[in-house]
Amino acid sequence: MNKEVALVVFSGGQDSTTCLFWAKRKFKKVVALSFLYGQKHEKEVELAREIAREADVEFEVMDVSFIGKLGHNSLTDTAMAMDQEKPADSYPNTFVPGRNLFFLSIAAVYAREHGINHIVTGVSQTDFSGYPDCRDAFIKSINVTLNLAMDEQFVIHTPLMWIDKAETWALADKLGVLDLIRNKTLTCYNGIPGDGCGHCPACKLRREGLEKYLSRKC
Ligand code: ZN
Repeated sequence: MNKEVALVVFSGGQDSTTCLFWAKRKFKKVVALSFLYGQKHEKEVELAREIAREADVEFEVMDVSFIGKLGHNSLTDTAMAMDQEKPADSYPNTFVPGRNLFFLSIAAVYAREHGINHIVTGVSQTDFSGYPDCRDAFIKSINVTLNLAMDEQFVIHTPLMWIDKAETWALADKLGVLDLIRNKTLTCYNGIPGDGCGHCPACKLRREGLEKYLSRKC
């Protein structure tokens, strides 16, 4: 166990909740940081708060809703449908340009203010769904940039970077929180917690991963 504190970029979804419990095993103290970025499903933040309470970690919310106003995407635009198929050669319409760039920059400033140098994020290159700021090269790059920007020694941890959704469920199970993550987290683009709407791309990815993990288990 690391005697230090870790800050987890926390949305209350499957991935960041798995990271929250991963961090609890690794660090003496964990702080969960959530962002209000103008997402249509603001109850996402309330669910995140509840999970943080259950995990017994400190919880903070930052309002960064300007991010949703900078560009168009279906997570913040009420006029845009969530589950349209992605046209060829373009990003999915759920892509919020710069989201992880903003989140990690803000998390680092917050961390610095609180004397924290470990930052945990649930991004994954394996299941990155076309979001460029979930890739390992971006994380390594922003880690260097943040250290240079603030003359600090931040360490960005990405426990899910090289594992797929089935392995993420396996990790949740190993951490003893499979049921909590299955029932309480919100991944669905249509804002339905737990197993979700069942047909949006996020639900499909989550369900296929769970089925794959459970079938391997028995
Ligand atoms: Zn869904």
